[in-house]
Amino acid sequence: MSNPSVEKVVIVGTGCAGLTAAIYTARANLNPLVLEGTLPGGQLTTTSEVENFPGFPHGIDGYQLMQNLREQATRFGTRFEQALVSSVDFTVMPRQLICGDRTILAESVIIATGASPRMTGVPGEKELYGGKGVTTCATCDGAFYRKMDVAVIGGGDSAAEEALFLTRFASKVYLVHRRDTLRASKIMADRAMSHEKIKCVWDSAPVAVEGVEQGAVSGLRVKNLKTGEESTLAVKGVFVAIGHVPNTGAFAPPLDVDHNGYFKPEHGSQVKTKIPGVYVAGDCADHVYRQAITAAGMGCAAAIEAERWLAEHGE
Ligand code: NAP
Repeated sequence: MSNPSVEKVVIVGTGCAGLTAAIYTARANLNPLVLEGTLPGGQLTTTSEVENFPGFPHGIDGYQLMQNLREQATRFGTRFEQALVSSVDFTVMPRQLICGDRTILAESVIIATGASPRMTGVPGEKELYGGKGVTTCATCDGAFYRKMDVAVIGGGDSAAEEALFLTRFASKVYLVHRRDTLRASKIMADRAMSHEKIKCVWDSAPVAVEGVEQGAVSGLRVKNLKTGEESTLAVKGVFVAIGHVPNTGAFAPPLDVDHNGYFKPEHGSQVKTKIPGVYVAGDCADHVYRQAITAAGMGCAAAIEAERWLAEHGE
């Protein structure tokens, strides 16, 4: 008889990858337990309209999409619990997930913990984040900055994309980059640099976001790294687009990660890890595509792998 306190499959994360894995493993009668972290529903819950998720010809609200996935997973018997995994022991069987003073035991584990936007850490950024003018999502918040001047920090594809998107609303978009060439792909860089509303602020790093006393962004203080000169861009919105940090710390080691902290799956697979029965899915293991649909696809793949592994090795 199997130990009743050992879960067949535990899924860590409730974004697109985690919930898709839940739908598949629940339909396979594996009675999955999903652990919810600090942002239930993942990054899509901070987005407004999602227009590129197949099956919704007129788009769907990001929060609603995640509610739908959750409802679908629940319908087949998925259980949800709030728990933050702080460390793991994958040397033993069943696998151990340590969540504060509690240890969850599982035969197989699917890690779908996503990635969080990287922040600059300058004064004022944290204080004015979320509704006060500092944001990490132009798609979500761009429309609030109609006819205003805004700044985007970063030089990659995300920054170029955010800046271009913001030209639909803002009067002027400063693209603040710490070097004198964009890291973005040539096509995106050309588009951004040739747009009449976008002004590149080269060789410049943010020093502070101004407006903390008023409770709303009033400017972005930047420093020219070549001359040392500081100046303030009079903007009402600051969009931070300097990449993402994958949420992999609690699992690595023992799992392998690349130099940016993303899980490194086993050769020839997107979701298998070096630990038998332990899989990864979604943005925590994908720095290339980072789409809701690709995360969902990886969640599906991880679930099928877990199901096959349990059929062969499970109790
Ligand atoms: P990224 O390529 O890593 O670029 C991050 C940018 O932020 C870099 O320009 C970097 O400067 C800058 N940066 C990093 N830390 C900073 C700091 N503390 N202060 C100031 N600037 C800082 O990240 P990403 O743009 O999010 O793109 C991630 C991946 O997704 C890439 O592979 C990208 O091609 C892909 N992506 C593709 C698309 C698309 O094709 N439409 C859209 C978005 C993302 P340095 O250049 O000096 O390092």
